[in-house]
Amino acid sequence: MPPVIDRTKCIGCGMCADVCPLQVFRHDPKKDKIPEVRRPYECWHCNACVLDCRAKAIELRLPLTHMLLYVDSDSLKPKE
Ligand code: SF4
Ligand code: SF4
Repeated sequence: MPPVIDRTKCIGCGMCADVCPLQVFRHDPKKDKIPEVRRPYECWHCNACVLDCRAKAIELRLPLTHMLLYVDSDSLKPKE
C-alpha cells in the first residue's frame, strides 16, 4: 500500500519528500504545508519516510515479503 500521511499529525517539515529516493512526495509549502503523495505506486516500501518522520504521521502497509526486513523506529531508541 502506498504511504498515507495523517494530516492531523504532520508538522510539514518536508523530510519525507527529501528522503524518498523515488520522489513519491511533492512538498510545496506555498501551496500546502502537508506534502502530496504524488506518485503513490512508485513506492518500493523502503520505509525511509516512516523512519525519518518525527511526527510519526506516515502509515505504510508493507507487502508480506517486506515485513521480514521491517525495522520499528521505536526499537532503535536506547533503552532507559
Ligand atoms: S516527514 Fe512527517 S511530519 Fe514531515 S512533512 Fe513528511 S509526513 Fe509531515
Ligand atoms: S517507503 Fe521509501 S519509496 Fe516509499 S514513499 Fe517512503 S521513502 Fe519513498
